[in-house]
Amino acid sequence: MNRNPGQRSSDAFDVAIVGSGIVGLGAAYAALRRGLRVVVIERGARIAGASVRNFGHLCIGAQEGEASAYADAGRALWLQLAREADFWMRESGTLIVARHADELRLLEAAAVDGGIRLLDAREIEAASPLAPGIAVGGARVEVDLQTNPRVAAERIARHLESQGVEFRMRTSATAVSSGRVETSRGGVDAPAIIVAVGHDLDHLLPDLAHEAGVERCALDMMRVQAALARPLDAPLLTGWSLVRYGRFARLAEAAPVRERLHAERPDLAAIDLNQMYTQLPDGSLLLGDTHVRDSVASPFQSEDAQQAILDEAQVIFGISAPRVIERWQGVYASAAREFLSREIAPGAHAIAVTTGIGMTCGLGFAEQAVAAATGLPLPAVTHEQDLR
Ligand SMILES: Cc1cc2nc3c(=O)[nH]c(=O)nc-3n(C[C@H](O)[C@H](O)[C@H](O)COP(=O)(O)OP(=O)(O)OC[C@H]3O[C@@H](n4cnc5c(N)ncnc54)[C@H](O)[C@@H]3O)c2cc1C
Repeated sequence: MNRNPGQRSSDAFDVAIVGSGIVGLGAAYAALRRGLRVVVIERGARIAGASVRNFGHLCIGAQEGEASAYADAGRALWLQLAREADFWMRESGTLIVARHADELRLLEAAAVDGGIRLLDAREIEAASPLAPGIAVGGARVEVDLQTNPRVAAERIARHLESQGVEFRMRTSATAVSSGRVETSRGGVDAPAIIVAVGHDLDHLLPDLAHEAGVERCALDMMRVQAALARPLDAPLLTGWSLVRYGRFARLAEAAPVRERLHAERPDLAAIDLNQMYTQLPDGSLLLGDTHVRDSVASPFQSEDAQQAILDEAQVIFGISAPRVIERWQGVYASAAREFLSREIAPGAHAIAVTTGIGMTCGLGFAEQAVAAATGLPLPAVTHEQDLR
């Protein structure tokens, strides 16, 4: 990647993209595949935002509506990029453990629409390292994928750069107008501009962020070494996940699950826990995650919340206290609507995934935004069949 912005090319760009998280990279990929000359402006020296701090769970089959359309489009793009850019990706599906009859009823109701295979208690225990007796049943969401978020974005960026996309790192966008991005290292001209700065939209475009109600959602996460009974070969969700993902949460059967969980565990409800797990290729386990929404992400992480995440992992896997390898805070953009897309000046668009599904939906969403900004149709995805 061009980490020395002193080395400038001849500057005839068709598209300028601000932000090199998964949404900005998705926009760069979409523009590149349309044969356009692309520059990506990124204030960091490396990619280090939400797109590397997450579970790497591409939670496609749990979406609904607009999110489902972007997730489906994104699935094909993820598979294609994994092959082209050479990073780890598995067609794992997602496992969901039901620990109560009401969670099972919710899974049964969701499964009616297809793509979800119901499992009995013995099957979910055989498919995952759950503690004996913890499950009353479960399910596998068939279409979901898993990647390693610590690797994927950087590999995508390197691949795009090898295909001619110019990356201007350590370069902050300070203003955007029709045909021009002002940056901390001078102006960049391009007829089409895509602003994809995630939760920092309020720094660059404060009026738009205010009007759209965009806040920061801060999440506590950790990576642990745990003596699991067997590998976790797919992301694992729980009842706490079901009551937040669109396909499940919209169903009438979600209400009793939410009420019971909140009544039984007000402590976990208070930290807005999404109790879920993914295992990285090195065997370590990602645990999370808590949610706090505010205009500023507090730098002070609650130890009680982190302990609750660890305690629940011990219960669900029947393990002794895991060794914590790393803790971190992730932040994503949050608003009442799941997606923000606005033409802020002729040819200049601001886009953001404004809930915690940007890895799942970001590539498909960015494709659609670039199609709208350039007026060029979506190219067909050609390689997916080969990858299955
Ligand atoms: C802990 C956590 C767990 C999650 N788990 C999942 C999951 O399992 N599955 C899923 O689908 N989603 C998940 N998400 C959500 C997902 O990670 C985000 O929605 C997604 O990564 C957002 O991508 P982005 O490109 O918009 O933002 P980011 O990745 O934050 O990228 C924005 C980029 O813009 C740059 N930038 C900002 N301002 C400027 C400026 N003025 N000039 C230049 N550059 C600028 C930043 O430096 C940054 O690199 C999770 C998020 C978190 C935090």
